[in-house]
Amino acid sequence: MQPPIPRLPDGRRLPTSFTPTDAAELITALANAYGLTCTIYGPTTIEDHLAPTRAGHRRELTGDEWARIRRTTAWQALLRTANSAAGRAAAQHAAAAIRQAGLECANCRTPLTAPPDETYGYCARCLGTIGLVKLQQRPCALTGTNAPHDFTDSPTCHACGMPAPQPRALPATERSNVTPLRRPNPAA
Ligand SMILES: [Zn+2]
Ligand SMILES: [Zn+2]
Repeated sequence: MQPPIPRLPDGRRLPTSFTPTDAAELITALANAYGLTCTIYGPTTIEDHLAPTRAGHRRELTGDEWARIRRTTAWQALLRTANSAAGRAAAQHAAAAIRQAGLECANCRTPLTAPPDETYGYCARCLGTIGLVKLQQRPCALTGTNAPHDFTDSPTCHACGMPAPQPRALPATERSNVTPLRRPNPAA
């Protein structure tokens, strides 16, 4: 038995031929378009685990079969289990995303409202106390990743404008055994 076709928020009805699989595809397409993260468990989840037909074809669920699956305690448990596992992962990745997007100070979590090319991803107090050398070694706030600053052949980071490390002026006797300042790994 097909579930009733729901009305859209603007009052229109979806086509009567609209199936749960169509709904899953629509939700996934909307999520992708708007940057929403969603995992859909639906008829195809079950179909992925069904034995093929005798002719070797993938078996597709009928409306009745899908309705029976939905009523099982196992299917209802899938949602609870998936939600709790996803919730733990979401907390961890959301914290990293907040830092990588420069929404909070990467050191003390003070809210930042200015864009990262003005804050470098730090509040004014931490910018003043961390010190330039440590800031140069930390991830670049403009990359949206954990990548380091890119000081390649430039006095400042190509992304955020942070001043590049200055080679130390050394006495001539020490110069021979000094390795050049190594650039952070650009592939990270
Ligand atoms: Zn701070
Ligand atoms: Zn940078």
